[in-house]
This record gives sequence, structure tokens and C-alpha cells, in this order.
Amino acid sequence: MNSTTATEPLDGEDLINYSDVTARIAYLESRDCHQPDREEYPCAGWYDCPTCDEASERELTSLRDLEEAMRPANEASDRAIAIRDDYLETFVRNEADDLVGDGLNFLESYVKWDELTADRAAEMKEITFGSTTYYITT
Ligand SMILES: [Zn+2]
Repeated sequence: MNSTTATEPLDGEDLINYSDVTARIAYLESRDCHQPDREEYPCAGWYDCPTCDEASERELTSLRDLEEAMRPANEASDRAIAIRDDYLETFVRNEADDLVGDGLNFLESYVKWDELTADRAAEMKEITFGSTTYYITT
């Protein structure tokens, strides 16, 4: 599992926890000076302010979309995660490994991982975050 802090953007991570999304939103909101008309930057370091910094504004918008998309799964499990599309097969293999343990070595060559991954993806909600596709699961 990746460890992320609220001070780092989340897009591009293999796995994003719902709690990381809400922490990052809270961080950006706490940086927001809400005063776009001042001639000088009123922020203590204007970066990461959604009002003064366009990249932060875009990030906050996409974080809010991600949070909304993840919320139902999180209400069901309290541990929703978003999985980057090209990490999904690794995630499915790890999940199977947790279930089967050492027996997986024997099974490994019999499993069609690409098909299993496609089946899992079909069950999950899909969302574009940043420029990357993520799948949401509990
Ligand atoms: Zn500002």
C-alpha cells in the first residue's frame, strides 16, 4: 500500500484510499484564500491555493468528482479504494494471493489473469482522475 500525505497530489498513484482523497481535499481547502482580486498573492506561498493557482483549482475539482464517485463504496465498507487501470491485474493477483496463499503457486499457470481482471473491472465503477482511469472497489 502506498503511503500518501495530504501535501502530495494523488493522481498517478497505484491505489488511492478514500481517506487520502478527503485529506487532500481538506488540505487544498485549508490553503484556499478565497480572494482572487487581490493584486498581490495574499497566500503564504500561493501554490496549492485553489483560488490563486489554476492547477490546484483543477485538482480540487477532480478530487471532488473522485470523492463523490467513491462515497457509496466507502459508505458500504468504510475502506473504499480507487485502483489505477494498469495496476488492476497486479491488484487482482495480490487479492487472490491473500485468499489462497501458498496454494497460488500451484494455481498460477491455470488462471487467466487478463480475463479475471476484466471480470473484476466490469463489476467496478470506472472514473477518470487526472488523465488516468481508475476503478473503485470496497
Ligand atoms: Zn490564494
